Amino acid sequence: MPASLHCPSSPASAALPAPPAHADDRLRILREVFGYPSFRGAQAAIIDHVTAGGDALVLMPTGGGKSLCYQIPAIARQRAGLGITVVISPLIALMHDQVGALREAGVEAAFLNSTLDWRAALAVEQRLLRGELTLLYAAPERVTTPRFLELLDTLAARARLALFAIDEAHCVSQWGHDFRPEYRALALLHERYARVPRIALTATADALTRADIIEQLRLQNAREFISSFDRPNIRYTIVEKKDPTAQLLRFIEREHEGQAGVVYCQSRKRVEAVAQTLLQAGIDALPYHAGMDAALRQQYQDRFLREDGVVMVATIAFGMGIDKPDVRFVAHLDMPKNIEGYYQETGRAGRDGLPADAWMTYGLQDVVNQRRMIDESPAEESFKQIMRGKLDALLALAEATDCRRVRLLRYFGQDSAPCGNCDNCLHAPAVWDGTDAARKLLSTIYRVHQHSGFGFGAQHIMDVLRGKATEKVRQFGHERISTFGLGAEFSEAQLRSVLRQLIATGALAIDAAHFNTLALTDASRPVLRGEIPVQLRESAASGSASAPARGKRGARHERPGAPAATPSTTGLDAAAQARLDALKLWRAEVARGHNLPAYVIFHDATLSAIAQTAPRSLDELHEISGIGEKKLQAYGAEVLRVCTSAVAAAPR
Ligand code: ADP
Ligand code: ZN
Repeated sequence: MPASLHCPSSPASAALPAPPAHADDRLRILREVFGYPSFRGAQAAIIDHVTAGGDALVLMPTGGGKSLCYQIPAIARQRAGLGITVVISPLIALMHDQVGALREAGVEAAFLNSTLDWRAALAVEQRLLRGELTLLYAAPERVTTPRFLELLDTLAARARLALFAIDEAHCVSQWGHDFRPEYRALALLHERYARVPRIALTATADALTRADIIEQLRLQNAREFISSFDRPNIRYTIVEKKDPTAQLLRFIEREHEGQAGVVYCQSRKRVEAVAQTLLQAGIDALPYHAGMDAALRQQYQDRFLREDGVVMVATIAFGMGIDKPDVRFVAHLDMPKNIEGYYQETGRAGRDGLPADAWMTYGLQDVVNQRRMIDESPAEESFKQIMRGKLDALLALAEATDCRRVRLLRYFGQDSAPCGNCDNCLHAPAVWDGTDAARKLLSTIYRVHQHSGFGFGAQHIMDVLRGKATEKVRQFGHERISTFGLGAEFSEAQLRSVLRQLIATGALAIDAAHFNTLALTDASRPVLRGEIPVQLRESAASGSASAPARGKRGARHERPGAPAATPSTTGLDAAAQARLDALKLWRAEVARGHNLPAYVIFHDATLSAIAQTAPRSLDELHEISGIGEKKLQAYGAEVLRVCTSAVAAAPR
């Protein structure tokens, strides 16, 4: 029991004043511990605010550097004698690596979760009470157990509870895309430990979710730090779905051969099938979904994190908290539920800031499926209404003929100019006037309903309009309808895109309760009357390609026998390349020995910089970004040796 553990006598000065947040201190920690020369964006302001004891809600895109926003205050407050920071993270499977990364940097950190046996857990608790830890990671369900709260009580009574960091804070909101009921219980942290500052962090939350996080976590007094949501290095592309697996294969082969990526599919079955197809095509692909055995899932996740160039084919069960920096693409074979989900998932690409792709295939069936899932869910109507609104925003993004990024950022309340790095900016899609086709479709839907007394699905409506006397058309006598054959000049692909657009804008509804039949809405009328012009992307099938070929980006140095180099390594001369290859081999060995992913030892960017500058002394090595004092001590001499011998061994 925690109370029976040996504890050092608690200090008399239970309520130490918050340390003044010295700019020098935080900069010193950044350089000393993490080896980075300067802060990014709002990091410095957030760190000052939290170190001084303020509450904060931090919205920062993936890869923006959220971790340092609580890790540096944790170190500063521990150094000031204020005790430990408790990090609440939903990701048990990743805690080991997160803690490993901190230890590599010389920070005393540990985790408490169900992967530890009782002996190991007890040892962590003892270290905690002895004040030896700077950060402790735990999952929300753990934090709210009586035993854990007792530990916290003890620490709080001694004024040794420095900070709570609530990671992935959007999980608290049912409006978010990853609701975890356990997060709700975290409100008690504030109720129980009102004096302990809290910082909540998330990468994705629209205005509604943000308000909910504040409400649920009682963060009304927190300062909000909202960074730009933009991820300029990610290129957004949305293509029309035809043969999605074949399209994916072409995309990977053309642009991301040998590189790490994530492919999202809606169903487990599809995950298995797509992974199989990729494997057969010689791509190092693994499946991941909640139906798999937990141990196998963990093993695959570890392979994805620890090896180069693995493609993970997964349901959305995969990815939260994955901090692998060199994921070069995220592909969606099925459309997610809303823009938040899409943005969170695509955000897992390119954390290292190097070029990356977010690529999605999208078709009429996606619209139908997502609508149906909302309509058929047991939720209340008011909730469904919100979900429909969110889906509509995503549909509008998929149908957009203008800059995708402008729309994405606008969704999160941010204005911007066309980005020049999305499919629509790079290759302005041909636009055609679908007003006439839209009117004819709506009119056909209306007349068919009038004629038969019930509605019909998309395929049948298109057949009638195009004048195809199918068996079904004849069976219902629909060749006698006045619009029969009136749209013979339109291709099916064109009509499909009109239907998608009409559904996306709410001018047409899908009646999920009646076999996905199409139904007019109030918003249909102005379109029917021709009052609202319908502008459409030219469908791929009707001329301009929706996925124009483009040259390989970041052309990679392909040398037989060499590991596939990431784009960061372009432009290295032979000697530097030899150093880099040797450093990568060395790093892989160290990572294996420590049972950690390679990037936890040194990032690719750091290795590249070492290879390029060829430092000759520890002092020179220390100049390079990403090498803190602990790593310099632990690895500096080895790194210098590897560099020297690599060049000596390289062919002239
Ligand atoms: P997030 O949690 O916001 O997605 P991370 O905290 O994982 O992002 O940071 C992303 C990457 O950027 C990490 O590899 C981290 O080490 C690096 N990083 C963060 N802050 C800085 C900085 N000030 N200078 C250089 N690199 C940084
Ligand atoms: Zn753009």
